[in-house]
Amino acid sequence: MLETPHVAVGVAIATKFPNPWIAIPLAFASHFVLDKVPHWNPHLYTETQKTGHPSKNSTIMAVVDIATALILGSTFAFKALPNVQMTVLILACSLASVASDVIKYPYYYFHLRQKWLVKWVNFERSIQVDTKSIIWGLVTQVLIISASIWWIL
Ligand SMILES: [Zn+2]
Repeated sequence: MLETPHVAVGVAIATKFPNPWIAIPLAFASHFVLDKVPHWNPHLYTETQKTGHPSKNSTIMAVVDIATALILGSTFAFKALPNVQMTVLILACSLASVASDVIKYPYYYFHLRQKWLVKWVNFERSIQVDTKSIIWGLVTQVLIISASIWWIL
């Protein structure tokens, strides 16, 4: 799944569960639930297997997605001010919600092939539910983002 819906859910969790001992693990766990929702994302893995690195187009999509996720997380974190505790919690939950994917970037872009990392990449791949249709695979993610923002506001 793209990072933006993950972060939207992470932010929602932070705002609904102000206890960091609950919110941060929950945000981390939400990643695996969301990856089970049928979705589409750039084929970083397949391309890396084929050519040694993700394609330029996929990289552009990943960068746009990460930038959007960062803007989304920071906007809500900023909005929570002057409640510094909530601001930090939103940032922490945003990070926790995508940690499982962020770990994989060195595999794609820096050719790291440590055993544990390869295992993690394969595990992450095994839980993905991909859609054949790009459109439907994006619709589910737009719905997750909308539902999360609706839940937050
Ligand atoms: Zn993932």
